[in-house]
Amino acid sequence: MGVNSERCPICDYLMESCQCTFGGSAHPDRSVMKRVVKDHLYLLSEAQLWHVIKLENFWRTSSSDDEYKKCYDLLKQRVAEHPAVIMSENAVLAAVDDNRPFVLEHRRFGIVGNAYTAGPDFFNWFRGWYINHGDDKYGKDWRCWDKEPTDSQREAAKWES
Ligand SMILES: [Zn+2]
Repeated sequence: MGVNSERCPICDYLMESCQCTFGGSAHPDRSVMKRVVKDHLYLLSEAQLWHVIKLENFWRTSSSDDEYKKCYDLLKQRVAEHPAVIMSENAVLAAVDDNRPFVLEHRRFGIVGNAYTAGPDFFNWFRGWYINHGDDKYGKDWRCWDKEPTDSQREAAKWES
């Protein structure tokens, strides 16, 4: 089943016509369904998971609750401390399909592409780059990270020979 034929688990529309980013009284209140989906993410397909993540990013759920705020700051700090990880080539290609950010490193040129800082144009640029570098071997000539690696992380990760 392709991504485009799957439905949003919250509004049940096809993902491309998902109604969840529209507000106002004309739209049904889906707050309970939203909570149920978030509490049962294990029920979702991978495409639905990424769809909900995009919605989350759009909604930027916030709360005036003090403990909630503290935990949110703690979570951001933990994520920031989490070391960057080298992705598999298949994971990179899947990320390109879904416009999910990653960082491209070339063995000779260092970090040459960063979706976190380059924005949406990065993915089109990467597709062109990938076609032109078909002879280069993943892991040997280039590789991708799930976020910007530190210099020491790059040095510690050995290239294939
Ligand atoms: Zn929806």
